[in-house]
Amino acid sequence: MKKTVDDRLAALRGSAKRLDYNARSLAALENNPRCTLRALLDASGSDKTAIATHVGHPPSFGQSSFAITRGNAFEAMVKDNGCAELLRVLRETLHLTLPEVGYEDLNDVGGDGRSKERHERTEEVLLRAARGEGDGTLFDHPMLRLLIGGHKAYLEPDLVALRIDGRFHIVEIKSFPIIDEQADSTQVRAATTQACAYIIALRDLLGRAGIGEQAVSDTIVLVAPKDFTNRPTGAFVDARKQVAALTRQLSRIERIGDLVDLLPEDLTFDLAPDAEDRPRRPAEELTEALDRVLVTYRPDCLNHCEMAFYCRSRARAEASLDVLGPVVREQFGGIDTTTMVMGLARGELTPSEDQVEMAAALRHAARLRAELEDLGGAA
Ligand code: SF4
Repeated sequence: MKKTVDDRLAALRGSAKRLDYNARSLAALENNPRCTLRALLDASGSDKTAIATHVGHPPSFGQSSFAITRGNAFEAMVKDNGCAELLRVLRETLHLTLPEVGYEDLNDVGGDGRSKERHERTEEVLLRAARGEGDGTLFDHPMLRLLIGGHKAYLEPDLVALRIDGRFHIVEIKSFPIIDEQADSTQVRAATTQACAYIIALRDLLGRAGIGEQAVSDTIVLVAPKDFTNRPTGAFVDARKQVAALTRQLSRIERIGDLVDLLPEDLTFDLAPDAEDRPRRPAEELTEALDRVLVTYRPDCLNHCEMAFYCRSRARAEASLDVLGPVVREQFGGIDTTTMVMGLARGELTPSEDQVEMAAALRHAARLRAELEDLGGAA
């Protein structure tokens, strides 16, 4: 009997517990939408950190405990006294009119912090607010939920603010600074991409109750420390493009069966853990399994994906131009490896018809470099 897509995904994961999608994994997916390995590891709920570690390339991204503590302290300060600082930012910096403000704490439900219970309460209060009932304006740590590839994923924004121009807005509180009204673009992009998952989940929640997606803005309110102080400031971030991109990614997950169909029947990322959860599968065998799946490595992966060091080492071993990033890759269109680039530059390879122009440019660059080296040697 032919296996279902779910059976194949479960076989890819093997005996480990399934890990669900979260805002971070969705953001990583959006950052490298063409990567088959990432799509399969996420869809199968495989433990990417454990897999990368076992094949000798443990991830090293993520915040230090110092940065996490600083971030939590900043968020607590912004939300202190019924979000007094946040309201000041919304009113003074972003010039919003918020005449009456209600505050709803959704960190737990009567002391119960389980995701399911918090989600039910979140759904109840947000739907009431959307219908103009209740007095909530600021919803602290609501628990949203999305069904992705048939599995529930719980997603938790810092805050949802209602009635900014009559619409829900996702508020992200971050501890990286906004200096002279500018923030680090990589960090802003990462924050925005996660917020997109919240926007889509909130639209889904309201949509199921017949409330249109216009009720949720795709402009995010970013709150962060101003200049080199601890005083919060705010900025609006337009997330329309990223919301559209993530929406496309989510529909691609629904078609994961197309990718699974192309895999060898026996492929698995199983770690075969023992009773103490230690992997028993030989690392070389797992590496071989990973090597059988297409990756589209780019340097940006180092900021987003647990598999980045494995993929970088693979791209280097294959002398792939991917290690140099998409801009270089694009410039060398039709040439895939650094070996080929060097061969054409040295005149050791005969270029194909569509490589003739690039080969001439490379030989010219190689000549210039040699001349400069001669000059340097003579000086
Ligand atoms: S690090 Fe590897 S698996 Fe992760 S997104 Fe990049 S190419 Fe894909």
